[in-house]
Amino acid sequence: MIVLMPEQIDNPSTFDVAIIGAGPAGAAAAIHAARAGYETLLVDGARFPRDKTCGDGLTPRAMHQLEKLDLDVNPKYRSLGLKLHGFGGSVTAPWPQTYPVQTGTALPRLHFDNLVVDAARQAGATLWTGTPATAPELSGNRIVSFRVGEAEVRARWIIVADGVRSTFSKQLGRTWQKDEVYGIAARSYATSPHAGEPWLHSHVELQDEKGTVQPGYGWIFPLGEELGQVNIGLGALSTARRPAKINTKKLLEHYAEQQRPEWKLGPIEHVASALLPMGGAVTNVAGANWMLIGDAAACVNPLNGEGIDYGLETAALAVELLGPKDFTLAWPDILRAHYGQAFLLARTAARLLTYPQFLPVAGPLALRGPVGRILMPAAARLMGNLVTEEDRDLIARAWRMAGGTVGRLRSHSPLWSTD
Ligand SMILES: Cc1cc2nc3c(=O)[nH]c(=O)nc-3n(C[C@H](O)[C@H](O)[C@H](O)COP(=O)(O)OP(=O)(O)OC[C@H]3O[C@@H](n4cnc5c(N)ncnc54)[C@H](O)[C@@H]3O)c2cc1C
Repeated sequence: MIVLMPEQIDNPSTFDVAIIGAGPAGAAAAIHAARAGYETLLVDGARFPRDKTCGDGLTPRAMHQLEKLDLDVNPKYRSLGLKLHGFGGSVTAPWPQTYPVQTGTALPRLHFDNLVVDAARQAGATLWTGTPATAPELSGNRIVSFRVGEAEVRARWIIVADGVRSTFSKQLGRTWQKDEVYGIAARSYATSPHAGEPWLHSHVELQDEKGTVQPGYGWIFPLGEELGQVNIGLGALSTARRPAKINTKKLLEHYAEQQRPEWKLGPIEHVASALLPMGGAVTNVAGANWMLIGDAAACVNPLNGEGIDYGLETAALAVELLGPKDFTLAWPDILRAHYGQAFLLARTAARLLTYPQFLPVAGPLALRGPVGRILMPAAARLMGNLVTEEDRDLIARAWRMAGGTVGRLRSHSPLWSTD
């Protein structure tokens, strides 16, 4: 890693593109920008390798983007799809053939993010780590400069990929709309002799110690025989009005206890939790010469909390947009064109899960009865972020049957809008 001392940095330092945040979104943007021939700076406040609270799962959608970046991740382990369990039933959903790559994988973010950052450096991006970007200086809604420690940075374009906490983008006016569905989630690692199991597993009937069904789902994502571990975690959906009243870490202990006999799990380690803005529920995501990508733009699937693929995709889209155009309206338009409908549908379905009464009634129907046989494979694909046009239509119809209309919701839902 390159860590420059203040005296080694030109003041001001000038670049074509400056990218703030070197998670998967920022590092992928740096690869695309450097490959396109732009003088590129990639800045992260942390030093790599660094951990990031995550389920570490990569679906074929993410693999497709990684292939474009020439990254082969955890080559000895491949997943085939998702198994969904609960309420006395189980559904197996192999990854559909939507993408040329039809397998997924998983790798702890400690290693995965380091791999992508390293590829950015090799592609020719200048990398500064260990000091955060601060103090954006604005002229209208154009960023003129910002600081990294003592250094003043100037760039024609700035791509902000500073993640869920998004301290830099808050200063640019980015606002998280917590009335919309957001996630709370916790993950941990445990050893298992079944770490080579080729299916991701998700449990939608999550019970606490008293046997009460909690509004969330658990996951076990194997990491391959070589690592000999699984990522085990759980997530729940919330809104400001109906916050999920669960203690994620305590519930995770209990979930691991329940799964231990089948998976022969060792003790759970490195337990960490985080909040997740989802489904584009943020406003002010672009200015004249800057754009937010990845988690900073809430590009996370509301039904499964998956965001690495969107981070990688928005990185590619942002670099394609670089040019003389003003990004203020162009960038949210691009996000809406690519993800608007899918995110609104998923948010709508996810909202149902924030009603404590919903799962205990709908769960058995969905996982056992004839309705389940039709709906659940589609729902499993939704959770795996691999929705086909037919699935989209099926979920849309199911939602309309449930008495609402997505259209009504769509009219006032914040979706990367500008204040
Ligand atoms: C419990 C949990 C489980 C999840 N499971 C999955 C999963 O299985 N699969 C999946 O695809 N997604 C999953 N996600 C979502 C996924 O983790 C995120 O969508 C993904 O990390 C987004 O990448 P990013 O690059 O936008 O942000 P991040 O990975 O958060 O990276 C942001 C970077 O910006 C840096 N930064 C922040 N502020 C500054 C600053 N001012 N200056 C410089 N650097 C800064 C940070 O240090 C960090 O390195 C999960 C999330 C959670 C919380």
